Amino acid sequence: MQQDVEEKEFLLVKLWLPCHFLDLSFGLKSEKGGIIIMSDTTIINCPSCGVKNRVPIHKLSMGPRCGRCKTPLSVSANNASPVVLTDANFDSLVGSANVALVDCWAPWCGPCKMIGPVIEELAGEFGSRALIGKLNVDENPVVAQRYQIRSIPTLLFFKNGNLSDTMVGAAPAQQIRAKLLSML
Ligand SMILES: [Zn+2]
Repeated sequence: MQQDVEEKEFLLVKLWLPCHFLDLSFGLKSEKGGIIIMSDTTIINCPSCGVKNRVPIHKLSMGPRCGRCKTPLSVSANNASPVVLTDANFDSLVGSANVALVDCWAPWCGPCKMIGPVIEELAGEFGSRALIGKLNVDENPVVAQRYQIRSIPTLLFFKNGNLSDTMVGAAPAQQIRAKLLSML
């Protein structure tokens, strides 16, 4: 059962790759039959020794440390990217974040492409202070229906896992930033 969930998650991540929206790095390993499985990890450069650390996304909020020198790895400017949220990982990631912003989008949506760079910029800016994530509503209908996403882009703001505000449409970066700052 657990295996099924994980494989579904990997598939969704794989579908994401052609979008080039995210700067996440994915681990590759081949299984029987030559199937490529990709995992939800991101690379963080150690500020002390410079070694590249591969960190599972779900551990970003747990104070990750460098594997070589044990220096705390900060998820801060220039090395934080929006997290790919799915039906499978949404509750654990958003639920464990103090503040979370979720960009609900789809590849065919023009205004979503306009707001994409803003979301990436905010991810770098807020680093570990807030979880900045993207949810493909076509591929993740469970979460999309739960929050009744009828128009995209829709931005969902969560405080301690509870929905606290919604912005429909491509809101200006300054408005989104101000909302996030007010929630920290
Ligand atoms: Zn290090």
